[in-house]
Amino acid sequence: MGGRRTDEKNEQGRGSGLEELLALHGQRCVHCGLCVRECAFLQEYGTPGAIAAGRGRQEPELAFACSLCGLCGAVCPPRVGLRPDRMFLAMRRQAVARGRADLSPYRALLFYEKMGTGRWLAGAFLPRGCDTVFFPGCALPGSRPEMLRALVLHLRRSVARIGIVLDCCTKPSHDLGRQDHFESMFPALCRGLRERGVRNVLVACPSCHRVFKEYGRGLRVSTLYEHPDILPQATPFAAEVTVHDPCGAREEPEIQAAVRRIAAAVSLTVREMEHHGARTVCCGEGGAVACVRPGFARQWSRRRSEEAGGRRVVTCCAGCLGFLGPLVESSHILDLLLTPRQALAGRVRHHRPPRTYLNRLLLKRWLGRIFAGSSCRLR
Ligand code: SF4
Ligand code: SF4
Repeated sequence: MGGRRTDEKNEQGRGSGLEELLALHGQRCVHCGLCVRECAFLQEYGTPGAIAAGRGRQEPELAFACSLCGLCGAVCPPRVGLRPDRMFLAMRRQAVARGRADLSPYRALLFYEKMGTGRWLAGAFLPRGCDTVFFPGCALPGSRPEMLRALVLHLRRSVARIGIVLDCCTKPSHDLGRQDHFESMFPALCRGLRERGVRNVLVACPSCHRVFKEYGRGLRVSTLYEHPDILPQATPFAAEVTVHDPCGAREEPEIQAAVRRIAAAVSLTVREMEHHGARTVCCGEGGAVACVRPGFARQWSRRRSEEAGGRRVVTCCAGCLGFLGPLVESSHILDLLLTPRQALAGRVRHHRPPRTYLNRLLLKRWLGRIFAGSSCRLR
């Protein structure tokens, strides 16, 4: 019975229409309040069941105040097994499809995505015989270009014929409910990879991981962190830290464990925060809520930094670092492998826009030089 409910839970929202999800949440939610206790959005709008039975159909645009973080599903009792984040995503999609979503507050985010898929910043560097690529995503190349160069040079030594793909997985459009755009972009990227013989995608970003895992047919995706044999050797540096699990890795215990194994290899002692693993708390970036309800986004970030209790936060998501960095000392797990002394002393620079665009442009040019003759466009 438990297994069947888990399968149902995983299926919620995959191919299900909004009507189906509203009916499911309206009927099954027992209004226990466990999710409401965790979430400012639900405290304002009511339980997922109440939303489904009331405003969900008439006002699907209210879902733009939800961070799509998935914590509600993680705390929902197993006997109920709801996934409200999937219902809220379906509401966003309907609001966009009906022209009822005002996407103007997301202009900067959509520009960021457009640049990430455009000819200036996107590009693939695929040596002959390449069947494995590293896909660093958008945030890491912009915010940590020096570290990324060192990592690329290392991966070229540790993985035969590895390729690099600079591109955007278009998760911003996915999460904003721009389903038509997402479906016109991401499958084309995957097709371009498959047609060139690529079968394995190594990612750095847990959000890219989620997109490739859910939609990247014919491609095997895993994070770099799950392959310690191809990563640089760790230099031991004793210190106490805490780990922030990104929402994108909420349902990925292997990624959560891999990050902690790397921390242990660097001799770091991890003291867990109250919310971690499957019950992790959003950094504030989720669902681009900061663009429309900055108070909700701040509430998540503040909560996360309070739970850190003064310890350095280590994470595998460069996007989370952008949100948590101003509030709490934080490091990317790759900083700890490549530049541990600087990372623990807080001396690794996290670049921010507009500098990030220049960094990505320069990185692309650099890759063009070191992968001479191997560059191509995938879409
Ligand atoms: S996905 Fe996150 S923000 Fe949205 S309702 Fe659930 S817990 Fe709240
Ligand atoms: S935890 Fe589940 S059953 Fe309880 S209020 Fe939230 S969605 Fe409803």
